[in-house]
Amino acid sequence: MVETTITSSREAIALEDNYGAHNYHPLPVVLSKGEGVFLWDLEGKRYFDFLSAYSAVNQGHCHPRIIQALITQAKELTLTSRAFYNDKLGVAEKFVCETFGYQKALFMNSGAEANETAIKLARKWGYTKKGIPDNKAVIVAARQNFHGRTTTIISASTDPSSTKGFGPFMPGFEVIDYNAIPALEKALANPNVCALWIEPIQGEAGVFIPDEGYLKAAEKICKQNHVLLMMDEIQTGIARTGKMLASDHENVRPDLLILGKALSGGVLPVSLVLADDEIMLVIKPGEHGSTFGGNPLAAAVCMESLQVVRDEKLADNAERLGMVFRKRMNALIEKTKLIQLVRGKGLLNAIVINDTPESDTAWNLCLDFAKRGLLAKPTHGNIIRLAPPLVITEEQIHECCDLIETSVLAYQA
Ligand code: PLP
Repeated sequence: MVETTITSSREAIALEDNYGAHNYHPLPVVLSKGEGVFLWDLEGKRYFDFLSAYSAVNQGHCHPRIIQALITQAKELTLTSRAFYNDKLGVAEKFVCETFGYQKALFMNSGAEANETAIKLARKWGYTKKGIPDNKAVIVAARQNFHGRTTTIISASTDPSSTKGFGPFMPGFEVIDYNAIPALEKALANPNVCALWIEPIQGEAGVFIPDEGYLKAAEKICKQNHVLLMMDEIQTGIARTGKMLASDHENVRPDLLILGKALSGGVLPVSLVLADDEIMLVIKPGEHGSTFGGNPLAAAVCMESLQVVRDEKLADNAERLGMVFRKRMNALIEKTKLIQLVRGKGLLNAIVINDTPESDTAWNLCLDFAKRGLLAKPTHGNIIRLAPPLVITEEQIHECCDLIETSVLAYQA
């Protein structure tokens, strides 16, 4: 094995600074071990993880059952490419189709790739089924969306940090306000629209939850206009918001369901698009794929990860403890002017700091949380997303709320 002799956080940070691209701005914490809700740094300090790798580790770090599935499969077969069949992919496809109620599944790796896949499916469906003239298909996206980092995906982004300096952009997207039904009605009336592409809660934007009824209205307006509802549940799916899918809160069934992150419990990249035959079968052999997509290692890990979510009733835990968490944060807001509000669903929550997005208050607070043993990171300057693994207990939630409260009140003082 390649020898890794790093012994101090300072050394690890220096190595990343010197040899790695500077495309992230991490908190100065170097993690070397994880178990359940906990992470440990190189010096052995223990933290509660309140980011969960952006909701990829819903099942907790290094879940023993998921790791066992990984090891067992890794000893048998890891990758064949899709040039041949393997004995795990079909089983996993059946498993996810039955779990989420669709006829077909298409496995990819990253979330961005799953979104790219859905874009291609929607466009091809638009040309072959809806009759949109060649190269005229439009996908309607929402302002403040986050769907990934590829050049096509950022073409629909309204965030300058995603787009500035990376043009020219892919045509074929129209961006409308999120959570605005009249805007939906207007945009989807265009006969060249093949899909509406939204997140049921905008996670990266700062956990923006649409008004109740918005998703249901979106589903209805899509149907009325023969437009596909393409739902990115990469961050909100797999029990994070208190139901298996955030769409379930409004009984909405997307035509194209996009999943990633916690599909693997954070063990390796697995993503997925689910759809019925009428949509999925528009893509023919040779028109789309990925060397690693649908590999047997990912298939085995994905099935175990979903089974753990079910067996451990993680959606129920997220629902219940999310309420406890928001109650505690609302009580804290009564005691401090530093926090403007708390919002969220299940265990996907955010506190908004009473300062400008340009201020470093949220960053400094996160540094203080870390000193006290809790890891979280600001998004868009003054918003702190708080999303622990869903295996957290009520006692631990209270311990973390105590810690946040002490930190906030000390910071204010
Ligand atoms: N879509 C949503 C809603 C996300 O939150 C993310 C990542 O944060 C992505 C897509 C991109 O996923 P990945 O980073 O795996 O490409």
